[in-house]
Amino acid sequence: MSKNGISALEVATQQVDLVGEMLGLDVGICEVLKKPTRSVIVAVPIKRDNGKINVFTGIRVQHSKARGPYKGGVRYHPDVTLEEVTALAMWMTWKCAVADIPYGGAKGGIRCNPKELSISELERLTRRYTTETLNIIGPYQDVPAPDVYTDSQTMAWIMDTYSQFKGYLVPEVVTGKPLHLQGSEGREEATALGLTYCIEEAVKHLKMKLRGATVAIQGFGKVGWNAARFLHDRGCKIIALSDSTGGIYNTKGINPIKVHEHKKKTNSVSTVKAGKSITNKELLELECDILVPAAIENQITGENAGNIETHLLAEGANIPTTPEASKTLTEKGIFTIPDILANSGGVTVSYFEWVQNLHREHWTKKEVHHKLKCQMVKAFKDVFDTKNKHETDMRNAAFMLAIGRVEEAYKSLGLWP
Ligand code: NAD
Repeated sequence: MSKNGISALEVATQQVDLVGEMLGLDVGICEVLKKPTRSVIVAVPIKRDNGKINVFTGIRVQHSKARGPYKGGVRYHPDVTLEEVTALAMWMTWKCAVADIPYGGAKGGIRCNPKELSISELERLTRRYTTETLNIIGPYQDVPAPDVYTDSQTMAWIMDTYSQFKGYLVPEVVTGKPLHLQGSEGREEATALGLTYCIEEAVKHLKMKLRGATVAIQGFGKVGWNAARFLHDRGCKIIALSDSTGGIYNTKGINPIKVHEHKKKTNSVSTVKAGKSITNKELLELECDILVPAAIENQITGENAGNIETHLLAEGANIPTTPEASKTLTEKGIFTIPDILANSGGVTVSYFEWVQNLHREHWTKKEVHHKLKCQMVKAFKDVFDTKNKHETDMRNAAFMLAIGRVEEAYKSLGLWP
């Protein structure tokens, strides 16, 4: 449940209704788009290291396959619920459609506290979850990927379990694998690089200059840290950074590499001596040219949207802005690159990994970055053109483009039988 009392699933279904109305879609098709094709709940029993048996709940929700195989991450977290996973599966359908890659949307998860499980317990959990969902995943059916508290090792276990049942190695069943197991170059930084390409496009349209632009970034994980270094490389002045421990602020600029080295040693951004201390709330309200939420959902809400003082909001995180806040930002004239566009670089390079695996190829990092840039620039342009055509904001435009593409696919496929 979000801070303003709306669950992620309610936000997701309201978005379909809103865009359905704006596009004049058939009400019946909207009903189809609001429901996942399949939701599976499985029991995942494992023997703990102490010999006792525990049973965890595993979920896989497949939202739409109208444009291609289902695609989406698997998360291990105590808060995993069917409702949340369903909303995220729907979000994946729209993200893949905005990026114009031939995938539908899915999401999975296991309700557990991964911090309380040993490596061998996590391996048994992953292998059992894979076995229980074996019939619904597959290279042409549903391709899982890492998400919260799962990583390339988790993907290697899923791939191995699936391959053991098939009798031969099937790398294309998952993406986000280790490089030495047919993972893709450039996957680690793909989301942040895609975000940076979108920012470059937005800056051109807004007639701003990237060199010297002031940037505040919330969250210093894979997305936040890589975005900080890419923007720093392009001459931006990073004035604030934060993680869950708090943040730092310096109008003269912060070197993200120094902060990264400090974070590796201490696991904290807030203790680096590179500026004055600042809270996460204060960071979001700083006067800056570019604001990048790259931490968790629901950070810009009805409560603080009125205080946001940026020209450009680039959403690295998933669902960082509530619908109420989004309206306020539009009224304030803040240009937003919405999450389903801004962070779609990750799933785009996942798609590249799948293509490489299917063709038994290995592309260089330069090739991956070049293809990612082409894809992101095109996605940005498609959303921007939709915004102008329908005289709306970037968020509505991204959903209109995505939902319109999925609806078009459904209409041409027809309804069986
Ligand atoms: P991560 O776990 O690597 O990093 C998250 C960062 O956010 C950490 O620095 C953490 O300390 C910080 N954080 C956590 N709670 C916070 C809080 N309350 N206030 C401030 N900072 C907080 O995760 P990531 O992969 O960088 O993902 C970040 C966001 O981007 C998530 O919303 C994720 O869903 C989204 N995303 C990630 C990818 C990807 O490829 N990694 C792709 C698409 C979307």
